[in-house]
Amino acid sequence: MAAKKRAKPRTAKKSKPKSVTAKASGKTGSKPAARASAPPKLGEYRRKRDFSKTAEPEGGTAARTGTLRFVVQKHAARQIHFDLRLELDGVMKSWAVPKGPSLDPSVKRLAMQVEDHPIEYNTFEGTIPHGEYGGGTVMLWDRGTYIADPAMAAGASDEAAVQAGYDRGDLKVILHGERMRGSWVLVRTRFGPGRSSAKPSWLLIKHRDAFALPGSDIVADAMTSVESGRTMEEITAQPPPAAAS
Ligand code: MN
Repeated sequence: MAAKKRAKPRTAKKSKPKSVTAKASGKTGSKPAARASAPPKLGEYRRKRDFSKTAEPEGGTAARTGTLRFVVQKHAARQIHFDLRLELDGVMKSWAVPKGPSLDPSVKRLAMQVEDHPIEYNTFEGTIPHGEYGGGTVMLWDRGTYIADPAMAAGASDEAAVQAGYDRGDLKVILHGERMRGSWVLVRTRFGPGRSSAKPSWLLIKHRDAFALPGSDIVADAMTSVESGRTMEEITAQPPPAAAS
């Protein structure tokens, strides 16, 4: 919306709200058509990865089960962090939590939203090759199912309540994980700082309930995979399963 007001002769049709400037994909021809079979929400996830090099799943085939799943992955990329993923609308909404979750209700943990991940990512544990996006070791640190906090549901279906809370930026959930249980909230604090492509920042906070543990440090206490029992070092040392060549 700058000075040139009449510079768009052929954009009559409705275009996407986000400006995807000149991301010339290889496909020539018309507008960026939706790839068949690729949930549009996974576009960013797929653009960032080369699936001939990483063992991460391309995704897009997992069916909904009627139950909402969540996972937390400990990820030793350039900086170690925890990735919280909540199933919603057929994908895993994802947040990078630098310090990881805390069971202490007085602790607010920054959770930076990242691109949606495929549901298939929920079983990924291993290493991403160095030099690739997110290169480093990934551990399945927690997993389970979740529901909307009844305080938020108000008669709506569970996923509708989750969606509404997500849209509102005040998402209250009950987690049924191995390490994260009970009532939690994700509160959106701001949209991307400056850069238009940046995603919102949120805070992850444990509510006071029977599963709260004031003064605890679950991230320091729980150092192994809920899937394999391995430490980060053990996962790193394990050669990737069946080198695909
Ligand atoms: Mn990560």
